[in-house]
Amino acid sequence: MSGPQKVLQKLGLLRPIDLALHLPLRYEDETRIVKLSDVRDGDLAQIEGTVTVCEVRQRGQRQLLVTLDDGSDTCLLRFFSFYPSQLKALAVGNRIRARGEIRGGLLCRQMMHPSFKAAVGELPQGLTPIYPTAAGLPQAYLRRAVQGGLARADLADTVPAEHLFWLGAQPAWNLRQALMFLHNPTPQVALATLEDHSHPAWQRLKAEELLAQQLSQLQAKRERAALRAPTLSPQGNDGMALHHQLLAALPFQLTGAQRRVSEEIAHDLARPVPMHRLLQGDVGSGKTVLAALAGALCIGAGWQCALMAPTEILAEQHFRKLIGWLEPLGVKTAWLTGSQKIKERRAMLAMIASGEASLVVGTHAIIQDKVVFKNLALAIIDEQHRFGVAQRLALRSKLHGEVLEPHLLMMTATPIPRTLAMSYYADLDVSTLDELPPGRTPILTKVVSDGRRDEVIGRIRDQLALGRQVYWVCPLIEESEALDLTNATATHAQLSTALPEVAVGLLHSRLAQSEKSAVMTAFTSGRLGVLVSTTVIEVGVDVPNASMMVIEHAERFGLSQLHQLRGRVGRGAAASACVLLYSTGDAPRLGDAARDRLRAMAQSSDGFEIARRDLEIRGPGEFLGARQSGAALLRFADLLTDTALLDWARGLAPLMLDLYPAQARQHISRWLGAQLEYLKA
Ligand code: ADP
Ligand code: MG
Repeated sequence: MSGPQKVLQKLGLLRPIDLALHLPLRYEDETRIVKLSDVRDGDLAQIEGTVTVCEVRQRGQRQLLVTLDDGSDTCLLRFFSFYPSQLKALAVGNRIRARGEIRGGLLCRQMMHPSFKAAVGELPQGLTPIYPTAAGLPQAYLRRAVQGGLARADLADTVPAEHLFWLGAQPAWNLRQALMFLHNPTPQVALATLEDHSHPAWQRLKAEELLAQQLSQLQAKRERAALRAPTLSPQGNDGMALHHQLLAALPFQLTGAQRRVSEEIAHDLARPVPMHRLLQGDVGSGKTVLAALAGALCIGAGWQCALMAPTEILAEQHFRKLIGWLEPLGVKTAWLTGSQKIKERRAMLAMIASGEASLVVGTHAIIQDKVVFKNLALAIIDEQHRFGVAQRLALRSKLHGEVLEPHLLMMTATPIPRTLAMSYYADLDVSTLDELPPGRTPILTKVVSDGRRDEVIGRIRDQLALGRQVYWVCPLIEESEALDLTNATATHAQLSTALPEVAVGLLHSRLAQSEKSAVMTAFTSGRLGVLVSTTVIEVGVDVPNASMMVIEHAERFGLSQLHQLRGRVGRGAAASACVLLYSTGDAPRLGDAARDRLRAMAQSSDGFEIARRDLEIRGPGEFLGARQSGAALLRFADLLTDTALLDWARGLAPLMLDLYPAQARQHISRWLGAQLEYLKA
């Protein structure tokens, strides 16, 4: 495969239809030449004229200054970086077409870094589309590829004609017309309607995309509804079901929200159809106990339950917590991770296969290994957003039963705002824990410049004197694990010196699993006063005595990640604090997005509010993208603003699956085929 073809593949442009659906980001109007005497300050214009001056000025900042004369007036073209080839193209006497923003008034018009080319050949007839590209793939190549795709793709309408009335425009645009138009718009069109995607052709494309998403999710949901799962309801020998025994043994009362969600789950489990439920609850809202209660229902009915967590630390913590709750009630638990000794693993696998262990806790080792369950009926995934697409697919195929499918409960502390969840997770049922257990004191969050580090260390000393513990989190520097480590190690050394009276621990991803868990145990048991850590502690760790967290280089973290981290404190009754240390490096001040994130953190400790802000700052594409890592993304439609189109798609999807199944299939494959290929790969 040639280089450009590889890039096309990377862009997901595999089939002719994928190319046809690769729509321009924007357009350039190269159809007209404007006279300099007619342009005004701020105009985006294309001018054509003869170069009268071309000089490189060395004084001050080196720059190339070119004067262009079009007969009506002159304009200065200014370049701060340029190649020798450009110098040659701009030689005195050459005729040039330049495009850019006009600055300055009548006296001294100029363009900064205009795009330009030799003034040869006809002007283009239509607007010039600019496509999203990658790895320097030239626009001209993409344009040819897209035109080729348009010519070869099957563009016949899949949306039944009688459902198109919503388009309003008469006659309604069909898919072919809409695509032809968006790739080759006529110069007369109002550019603004193309740029804000309000043009009827764009409306058509966005509606199609939303419909594909709704169809595929509804189809998945229906396929699942046709499957059979074991019915799990409370049972017990002496009238005391395991589930009720666990409830009675818990050291606390369930909150109202926990009771409600626990009933939602129990209701699903009692049905002969596989549950497919997402439980979203803020950090610390008490999801683990709901997992245990669901597990008790399953185990009490004589089946096996598996709980999978994204990291070993978290899996181990769940393991301890669950055996604490369930072993006294006679439940035998197995434990599976990647770092386990062969001999131990063999023993565990045997217990799982024979059914001796009715609860299995572990990392993705649960799905990667040759684990054979005797009778798995419920799979629970904690922090499900942390698992990649491939892992989720592996899980799905692993869970695929011969006769009966297991129920699936996914838990996440990164809530998705309700409107998004309804449309984006149309194939899931969503339960929401919107109440924290009682007795929590709110976390005080402060945004502090790194220059005040000593003061922060003083605050840590105060907390330690009260017998509390402190987390200090260092960022993950993606490009360099080594740098990452240096940062954490340096901070560890600094804190060890500054706080000689307490033990300071260090946790990072390079440690062996046994070392990690030794450090974690030392912190949990209170032997370490301070834990310096990279983001390995991000998810789920529960040490109620920790009352302060410092996040170094907080400006480098995403909003939901900051919120997850902060959720490690404020788990006990003590007043807790979170310090977001930022550093601007060489820059004079923090970037806008970083400042917005830190401000949002200081203003709210509600995960749903944070998610809403995150969505606002990043937009749904990126917001969901990070979460879905590659799963169906909306490219054109916007779930927040295209609500009318979304309603239309939601209404039509069930109708279309019932009445036009072949077109529905064709529609899904047209829009999502390349992604499905990608997911299979
Ligand atoms: P998360 O939802 O973040 O996974 P956890 O399940 O780890 O939260 O619960 C956080 C802490 O709250 C744990 O120490 C847990 O035992 C405790 N907890 C859970 N539910 C209640 C409750 N109803 N009352 C008091 N404490 C609770
Ligand atoms: Mg948790």
